[in-house]
Amino acid sequence: MADMSFDLVVLGGGSGGYAAAIRAVELGMSVALIEKDKVGGTCLHRGCIPTKALLHAAEVADVTRDAAHHGVIANLVSIDMTGVNAYRDDIVGKKFKGLQGLIKARGITMIDGEGRLTSPTTVQVGKDTITGKNIVLATGSYSRSLPGLDITGRVITSEQALQMDWVPNRVAILGGGVIGVEFASVWRSFGSEVTIIEGLPHLVPNEEETISKSLEKAFRKRGIEYKLGVKFSGVTQTDTGVSVSLEDGTVIEADILLVAVGRGPATANCGFEEAGITMDRGWVLTNERLQTNIPGVYAVGDIVPGLQLAHRGYQQGFFVAEEIAGLNPVVIDDINIPKITYCEPEIASVGLSEAKAKEAYGADKVVAYEYNLAGNGKSEILGTSGIVKAVRVVDGPVVGVHMIGSRVGELVGEAQLIVNWEAHPEDIAPLVHGHPTQNESLGEAFLYLAGKPLHTL
Ligand SMILES: Cc1cc2nc3c(=O)[nH]c(=O)nc-3n(C[C@H](O)[C@H](O)[C@H](O)COP(=O)(O)OP(=O)(O)OC[C@H]3O[C@@H](n4cnc5c(N)ncnc54)[C@H](O)[C@@H]3O)c2cc1C
Repeated sequence: MADMSFDLVVLGGGSGGYAAAIRAVELGMSVALIEKDKVGGTCLHRGCIPTKALLHAAEVADVTRDAAHHGVIANLVSIDMTGVNAYRDDIVGKKFKGLQGLIKARGITMIDGEGRLTSPTTVQVGKDTITGKNIVLATGSYSRSLPGLDITGRVITSEQALQMDWVPNRVAILGGGVIGVEFASVWRSFGSEVTIIEGLPHLVPNEEETISKSLEKAFRKRGIEYKLGVKFSGVTQTDTGVSVSLEDGTVIEADILLVAVGRGPATANCGFEEAGITMDRGWVLTNERLQTNIPGVYAVGDIVPGLQLAHRGYQQGFFVAEEIAGLNPVVIDDINIPKITYCEPEIASVGLSEAKAKEAYGADKVVAYEYNLAGNGKSEILGTSGIVKAVRVVDGPVVGVHMIGSRVGELVGEAQLIVNWEAHPEDIAPLVHGHPTQNESLGEAFLYLAGKPLHTL
């Protein structure tokens, strides 16, 4: 390959990188997208899509187990992980093919290989020098461990968990964040005994406390064990299992230990520091317009400190392409990006918690309302309990929505529009929600906050 020049060179073909590439060609730029593995990155191949396929298989298992309650006679005989994995791989394969087709149809030049930033305008891939008027860094993230905790054998991360072709009888999970509780949910539905270890006082500690407590209650009901506020001290393993010790003296015996303690920036050996990019412990630092300290070099996705979510990557990719094109796009703060945790029950939220809203606006200037899904017909039909909590500023907009219950992830689209458009409950209250839907629970919360409750007191 000859040396090549483009308007934009994107290093890393995950959610952030490929979104930047797509938007840039839409805006008339010539674009090279450099990827060392598979376009689609973590989300498509090792993250969002495969885990959500497992969670759906888990839901099918739960529904089958509970079928008689609905008058449907069915028996859950066993979980065939080969079949589950084939179902998952089929979905990933189709999406991968679709994405490759899209990249090609858009006229993006895909460059296969490992890239290294060698100057503010060049990336080296093997013997080739790829030059860009602008460069977007989008090399993503990797599963972190704790100091001294080696990922080997029966001590695994989400990558190895997704490769398993058997259902463990007993699992210990280190970390009660999103990835930890999602795998806990899958394995419990598949019949495993699960124990989560979380050093902070609550599961999903980044969520509103009411939501964390509701999840803990729901997990307890499902038979998922958890140890909160206690630190891991060590693990030993044999050919048949692991023995996990905690600082309070507890020892948990299990078949495997899943380490789900977060993800670090995948920036080692990428040449960023040598090229003069300002970094902090591997993260690429940017201003709010995603520019690094070097003019013309931007960063998007998981390598930029903040929420590690695929849709944040898409948004940032679009943002940077539009910024380069001079369109002056609007900054979306992380707090106003929707977050979904797809365990059973699901969790979805956007905006400020009640406590943070009170810090921001003053305790007497904030009102919150918790609508209980017990009052929602569709939730009753689905057999889910949960809450929808909406937080508003007095005489002002809705600044936060926090939800828990089966399928509430699907409700966060409306919630994020309302929070980002700074709608007042009085503006939304006249608008109509279909019946019977779970969406009505949002409608009920806004009606209440507008001073005209319907099915609530
Ligand atoms: C188990 C799990 C479940 C998840 N579930 C969800 C979810 O449900 N919803 C959600 O929003 N997010 C989810 N995420 C997070 C989501 O996957 C990430 O936020 C998203 O993939 C980040 O996109 P990115 O473009 O920054 O990086 P990545 O997707 O990691 O892509 C980076 C790409 O860059 C490539 N690359 C790296 N270095 C180089 C190099 N030097 N040269 C060439 N190529 C390089 C890599 O091969 C990779 O393809 C999940 C993550 C995990 C691990």
